[in-house]
Amino acid sequence: MALPDIWDVLVVGGGPAGLSAALMLGRCCRSVLVCDAGPKRNEASRSLHAFLTRDGTPPAELLEIARAQLRRYRTVRLLRARVGTVKRRARVFEATLTRGRRVRARRVLLATGVVDELPRWPGLRRFYGRSVFHCPYCDGWEFRDRRLAAWGPTSATAGLALKLTSWSPRVTLLTGGRYRLASRMRARLAANGVAVRDEPVVRLAGDATALERVVVAGGEPVACDALFLSVPCRQSCGLSLELGCRLAKGGTVIADRRSRTHGDGVFAAGDASIDSQLVVVAASEGARAAIAIHEELLEEDLAGDSVHSP
Ligand SMILES: Cc1cc2nc3c(=O)[nH]c(=O)nc-3n(C[C@H](O)[C@H](O)[C@H](O)COP(=O)(O)OP(=O)(O)OC[C@H]3O[C@@H](n4cnc5c(N)ncnc54)[C@H](O)[C@@H]3O)c2cc1C
Repeated sequence: MALPDIWDVLVVGGGPAGLSAALMLGRCCRSVLVCDAGPKRNEASRSLHAFLTRDGTPPAELLEIARAQLRRYRTVRLLRARVGTVKRRARVFEATLTRGRRVRARRVLLATGVVDELPRWPGLRRFYGRSVFHCPYCDGWEFRDRRLAAWGPTSATAGLALKLTSWSPRVTLLTGGRYRLASRMRARLAANGVAVRDEPVVRLAGDATALERVVVAGGEPVACDALFLSVPCRQSCGLSLELGCRLAKGGTVIADRRSRTHGDGVFAAGDASIDSQLVVVAASEGARAAIAIHEELLEEDLAGDSVHSP
């Protein structure tokens, strides 16, 4: 297929959200360019969980299956390139990719994901995705009944520690001395068997990728098989703000039920936008955004005035 001068849709990001959108748009006979470069959020993880039919699949394998299936759609192109800037010129978006290449598109879907702001403890990278996680819905089951800990920079982490009691009765909240717990929260943690340690975390230690203890300053190490982090995340690139999107307090793009953002012609799906941050949700949001984009373009392209059914 000759490359179109103006693509129907530029999808920025080729994770579960972007690839799912590309699949749906391809099936709608739309020309779609998916640009992807950079890390996937869960690439440190050995296997992804809680995705129907794919529970336990390595994250990279899921994406490889998706890319292979997308190759059947001749109107879809997957490009390994970072989108540096996107400008709206009249009714068309102009994007600059790696090495100055320019492409134009009628709509933009941001499926760019987020970046977690991880603490800088020695040893963290070794355990990350193997015995250090964020989401107990994704990784709690594998560590049920084992020694769990929760850490985060704010008192909201107490909520995560309480949540972890669904998976194990042996839970420790590590405040690191970063915040003071309200006495009612301390009482609630104690009533639910959650231990609290206030010393600052110094480093993580264990055997290969299996965490065994959290080393703290001036105290006994905390024995621990899995550590769950409650840390902030930020947009993985600046395109959302450049395109006029608004961000929610947690740093995710605000989008409506049809994935439309505050930026005209700009849609958002997956972790980058507001909602649960799960692969299955990202894929579902990608499909939903794709249908909304397709229907908007269809309305633009159909001859005659729009006629709404009663
Ligand atoms: C350690 C860990 C374990 C997890 N385990 C699970 C699990 O078991 N089950 C589950 O459901 N979820 C899990 N998650 C969550 C899951 O990773 C995310 O929900 C999912 O990856 C979101 O998909 P996405 O497509 O929105 O974003 P991503 O998968 O992050 O993909 C976004 C892509 O866009 C690219 N990109 C960003 N900016 C640009 C740009 N300007 N130009 C080009 N490309 C760009 C990024 O580099 C990336 O490749 C886990 C997360 C972590 C951190």
